[in-house]
Amino acid sequence: MSEVASVVQKPRVDIVNASFLISTPILAIVGMVWYYMEHGVSWTEPAIFAFMYFTTGLSITAGYHRLFSHRTHSAAWPLRLFYAVMAAGAFQNSAIKWCSDHRRHHLLTDSERDPYSVVRGFFWAHMGWVMVSEEDADVEKVEDLQNDPILIWQEKHIFKIGAISGIILPGLIGYLALGGFAGFMGGLVWGGLLRLVCVHHGTFLINSGAHVWGTQPYSMENTSKDLHLLSLITFGEGFHNFHHTFQADYRNGHKWYHWDISKWWIKGFSWIGLTKSLHKVPQQTIESRRMKTTFEKQEMSITNKEAIEEYRTSLKDCVNLLRSSLKGLNEKRIEYKQERKTLIKDEIASFEAGVKQAWADFAALLTAMKSEQSMAA
Ligand SMILES: [Zn+2]
Ligand SMILES: [Zn+2]
Repeated sequence: MSEVASVVQKPRVDIVNASFLISTPILAIVGMVWYYMEHGVSWTEPAIFAFMYFTTGLSITAGYHRLFSHRTHSAAWPLRLFYAVMAAGAFQNSAIKWCSDHRRHHLLTDSERDPYSVVRGFFWAHMGWVMVSEEDADVEKVEDLQNDPILIWQEKHIFKIGAISGIILPGLIGYLALGGFAGFMGGLVWGGLLRLVCVHHGTFLINSGAHVWGTQPYSMENTSKDLHLLSLITFGEGFHNFHHTFQADYRNGHKWYHWDISKWWIKGFSWIGLTKSLHKVPQQTIESRRMKTTFEKQEMSITNKEAIEEYRTSLKDCVNLLRSSLKGLNEKRIEYKQERKTLIKDEIASFEAGVKQAWADFAALLTAMKSEQSMAA
């Protein structure tokens, strides 16, 4: 029996994880009902929820996922520290463990060693895999992260940090915004419990839903799908087929209008120097891949083998034309922008010189007039 098969046969229930995942939604519902009956609800509680959902959720998508797992860009230590602290409050393990699982998911998608392979069922990919411990769950291929002092510190104190940022912090915000013990409980229920459950299942839906429903514009090599709707609640992670095909890209929604808050967040921080080296896959690579995948889908319905060869040759021509045109187009657009810039810069400089010259000429004129005046006197 292979090593892999023996591992798959003996999963043990992870009592801590399983009870956590089952009890938190129950606690959230009971807490919400109790809090509503006792204290009602104002706009403050949903605002605390939104703030906590945003900060902990983005720390998973932009931090754990695009920065730490895929190294699609680099980030300065204040941002890495922010991710480490807030993502701990999402209770999805330490960055080092999360990224080890995730890198394995990309490397071995849909295989038995994929920790959340959807081939083992929707529930398994969604949350079942968290509720059992497998012997195969070693932390591996994350040596780069194990050298980051922030992530070493986070790993060591993960539950303490999570308790502070994920439970005490929303409680404190509630205490300050709503006042007293009731306020603390409001923050805890809305920003702690309810938010935790929502972030959990949002993330889980990427592993389950985005491997079951949606389209495959870029690759049919694995089960990953583009499910645009899911991007609304996961800060842009719904473009999962794109992501599996081009995992080095810091964007998941690569078009400017694709709803991808993580992409805008990372880009925004580059303007103040907190993120750098944002990696983008060239447009010609993305579009030619889309053309080839569309062809592959159409090709499946063709039975005439000779015709297929001809179509493939034509496809090559189309792909080559598309690649070279897009490459040229993008280069020329950049050149055009730069050239226009220098052209306008020169024009501005010449007008500025004109203004100076006018004042200099005028000063000379005044001097001439004054000397004329004094001579006349
Ligand atoms: Zn990924
Ligand atoms: Zn995936």
